[in-house]
Amino acid sequence: MRNAYDGIVIGAGIIGACIGFELAKRGKRVLNIDKLAGAGLGSTAGSCAVIRLHYSTPEGVAMAREGYYYWLDWPKYLGTVDPTGMVKYINTGCLVIKTEKNNHLKHVTASLDALNVVYEELDAEGIRKRFPLVDTKQYGPPTLPDDPRFGQPTGDAIAGAIYVPESGLISDPKQSVHNVQVAGENLGGEYRFKAQVTEILKKGGRCAGVKLSDGTEIEAPVVINVAGPHSFQINQMAGVLDDMNIKTKPLKQEVCHVPAPEGFDYQNLGTIISDGDIGCYSRPELGDNILIGSEDPECDTLEYIADPDHYDTNFTQQWTTQVMREAQRIKGLRIPNQASGLVDLYDASDDWLPIYDKSNLPGFYMAVGTSGNQYKNAPVVGVLMSELIEACESGHDHDRDPVQFTMHYTKRACDIGFFSRLREINPDSSFSVIG
Ligand SMILES: Cc1cc2nc3c(=O)[nH]c(=O)nc-3n(C[C@H](O)[C@H](O)[C@H](O)COP(=O)(O)OP(=O)(O)OC[C@H]3O[C@@H](n4cnc5c(N)ncnc54)[C@H](O)[C@@H]3O)c2cc1C
Repeated sequence: MRNAYDGIVIGAGIIGACIGFELAKRGKRVLNIDKLAGAGLGSTAGSCAVIRLHYSTPEGVAMAREGYYYWLDWPKYLGTVDPTGMVKYINTGCLVIKTEKNNHLKHVTASLDALNVVYEELDAEGIRKRFPLVDTKQYGPPTLPDDPRFGQPTGDAIAGAIYVPESGLISDPKQSVHNVQVAGENLGGEYRFKAQVTEILKKGGRCAGVKLSDGTEIEAPVVINVAGPHSFQINQMAGVLDDMNIKTKPLKQEVCHVPAPEGFDYQNLGTIISDGDIGCYSRPELGDNILIGSEDPECDTLEYIADPDHYDTNFTQQWTTQVMREAQRIKGLRIPNQASGLVDLYDASDDWLPIYDKSNLPGFYMAVGTSGNQYKNAPVVGVLMSELIEACESGHDHDRDPVQFTMHYTKRACDIGFFSRLREINPDSSFSVIG
């Protein structure tokens, strides 16, 4: 096995795999290293794989729109067919509820308009007509179950919603990473599993490769930290944390799977609902279930984790709270006695926007802080990081003069400086999974 490469990607999740694939496309000898036994087994495996367009910043919306086209065009993007099965994009549409907190979606609709994305404005009656299972009373702002206001309407009707038909989900997020791995390997990319990076090697004032827990040293002038919820550990190893204005840390999340109301084919007829009024998002899940995640309302206590390899993966009261919140919106939703779903980690950044950047160690890069909302953008991030690395390795000063590139499908300019580790906290962020 070779022990010298043009680039090493630490991590084989969806974002690490897409970066490896894109570098291989550009003729680089690239190695993805992961401490787990296969591709996509980290936080990508727990992803809800929702492909939606509403983000709080125009840059977020533009990136998601660009990403959407890659998923539509999946086999052509990869240029190959994975013999173990290709994932599918399943269109479901997305209903986004207007609240005071999201400015009644004024910024979102302006961004959608700028990209010529079609959406429908619905008032409460319009929502009821289109989605008869949806209770349109206002319940927000969200509260905790021990609050007397919990579950009590605070108004006759929510302020309305937009419905974005071009939204959906990916059939199997773990398998999507395998698809990218196969495509990368076809181009000469390599993967090494069960290999834990314990040290970032340095030589002559720049990054020189990695050392593994078994003592193996692998050389490369470029190393990219794509370690998901472990990203802070890798940045610590590289000694680049002090230079970063925005930092990342693992955040625990519970995702609920509950049976859909009886008598309604939710798997085929249900839609994604992003609902700041009750503080949850939901989507149809296989087996006529509804999947429910949290939109991190202010009343909830966020559980940041010190060690992403050792934390409590049992469901807690949070699981019940989320299901009870969703039951306010979906008529006939039953709350099972047995909790099911999953517990996983986000790699949350201080402002819930990702960091796609270089570092103050020449040759060491990072695609981190994906904050529960960047699965959909992974193919775009592959291109973005490749453009960034190419420019910086050719001597471009990205911190002073941010690299820009033209996105493939939407033909819009992407200013990579937006994702800088040196930025001030972005006040336009939702400070939640919405990004
Ligand atoms: C519950 C949940 C729901 C989500 N839902 C959505 C959604 O609906 N839509 C959306 O767009 N996004 C969603 N996301 C976010 C999205 O899934 C992530 O942003 C994305 O999967 C991150 O991919 P990654 O490749 O950066 O990280 P990961 O998939 O976490 O991969 C990182 C890899 O690095 C490896 N690693 C770590 N440390 C080391 C080391 N020292 N040595 C070697 N390997 C190491 C790990 O083993 C891991 O495999 C969700 C995330 C979660 C957790």
